[in-house]
Amino acid sequence: MTHRVLSLRRRWRKAWRKCGAAVTQAVGGHPFLAGIAGTAVAVAMASLTFLTLYDGRADALQHAHETSENLVSLISSDLERNVEIYDLSLQSMVDGAQNPATWHLPAGLRQAVLFDRATSAAFLGGAYVLDSAGRVRASQNGELNPAVQLDDRDYFLAQQRCPAVGLYVSHPFRSRLRGGNLSIGLTRRINTPDGAFAGVALLAIRIEYFQRLLDKISVGKAGSVFIVLDDGTLLARKPFSQSAIGTTIARSPTFMAMAAHDEGSYVAKSAVDGVPRIFTYAHVPSTPWIAVVAPAVSDVFAEWRRRSLIAGGLTLALGAVFVVVAWLLAFTLQDKVAAQAELVRLAATDPLTGLSNRRVLDSRLDEEWLRARRNGSPLSVLFVDVDHFKGFNDTYGHAAGDEVLTAVAECIDSVVRRAVDLVARYGGEEFAVVLPETPAEGAAAVAEKIRRKVQGMKLSFGASEHGTVTVSVGCATCLPAQGGSASGLMAAADAQLYAAKSAGRNRVKSAASVY
Ligand code: GH3
Ligand code: MG
Ligand code: MG
Repeated sequence: MTHRVLSLRRRWRKAWRKCGAAVTQAVGGHPFLAGIAGTAVAVAMASLTFLTLYDGRADALQHAHETSENLVSLISSDLERNVEIYDLSLQSMVDGAQNPATWHLPAGLRQAVLFDRATSAAFLGGAYVLDSAGRVRASQNGELNPAVQLDDRDYFLAQQRCPAVGLYVSHPFRSRLRGGNLSIGLTRRINTPDGAFAGVALLAIRIEYFQRLLDKISVGKAGSVFIVLDDGTLLARKPFSQSAIGTTIARSPTFMAMAAHDEGSYVAKSAVDGVPRIFTYAHVPSTPWIAVVAPAVSDVFAEWRRRSLIAGGLTLALGAVFVVVAWLLAFTLQDKVAAQAELVRLAATDPLTGLSNRRVLDSRLDEEWLRARRNGSPLSVLFVDVDHFKGFNDTYGHAAGDEVLTAVAECIDSVVRRAVDLVARYGGEEFAVVLPETPAEGAAAVAEKIRRKVQGMKLSFGASEHGTVTVSVGCATCLPAQGGSASGLMAAADAQLYAAKSAGRNRVKSAASVY
């Protein structure tokens, strides 16, 4: 059991290591991948945060809508309930006024009969019974001012013109009976027993009623809440503005929507002060009033904006740090990869001639040996050695010797053109050339070309019988499929080089038969 767990663990570790190596290799091969991946992750994370924040904006808007709807419904039900109470008083006044017996009662008793219910109504400016000419026939406070004529008021004219109006809610007006107080009038028609117009029962409600109602509502620093008549006349508004009461907003484009629908919501600039607000409105049932709650857009999004600024700012800052770190890593990785490549190159190169060194020669020779054995193809090797080089050094110095070695290396390299061929410095003034898939004749031809080209460079060497630097070349070819070894092939080429030297130098010697 423990064995099995251990082996499982070992396998896991091995898989992990493999995976890690694959990632390191992939990233190492493309150092910028780390930067690009880091940037992509940062952008994805930032996008996610901004999406979430944007969602939060929609939530804030939704919350504002719900709160506004609740407030509108609260205002609306308060207005509706109070109008019902006012109407009960009015109906009682109408009943009293239509009863002829009421008018035969003593003044005090008549007042009690007519206005008993009205006295309890909140924000009551006054309760009156007007006769058919618009004069006060009875009033709640007992005062009758014969000079005051009210037959031009909308609440009087409406009842006078049409018997079926029922409860009429007037426009705001300045009272003629109570020193110019801003009021609205609620009226019901009083008929004679035969149905003719006999006057109106009037309850004058102080406009403060609406203002007091709105004062209780909180809609933020720049928000507003107001009650407007369905023809656009403003009844009350918070923040309070004396000059705005009684004015009309009928011409504001957004009021059309309010007038046309029972309830709704929209975002627009206020017709009164130009502040962008989220308007939520509803018509108050059985009245001509519209209750509107309009928190300012800036207030609704203030908290969301504050949170978004912090979260967005932090996301951007952290994302930027992440991106910078990712790219720093990428550039460091790139430097490391370049340095590593340079090290690999240096480890494989002879510093003087720039040719491959002995190490590369050995491994390539082994590779080519195996390949040739697999393919059944021939493999040739050349050994190139500068003639009497010791003497050259002694005469011209080591620096000049080095220059000659470099020139000879370039010369050999220029003759050996195939991509699979390899020219390497074997050591000292000796060079080796590996020629895969090359038969003995081909190798001898390449060798001769090298020999001739080196001589053709005419590098002056007084002590040489030719007057120039020359090389001797030993060639060996084999068919690895038939046996032998790479070192054997090299030894055969070396032997041919020795033969070339013995035969007088500046010549090519090839093994008589395929090794
Ligand atoms: P042979 O024709 O028989 O090849 O004679 P040789 O003088 O060329 O051969 P030998 O092996 O006696 O001498 C090789 C000389 O090559 C020894 C050394 O002075 C010189 N040599 C080896 N490596 C370098 C090198 O890197 N730079 C220079 N300038 N000379 C080198
Ligand atoms: Mg030598
Ligand atoms: Mg030599």
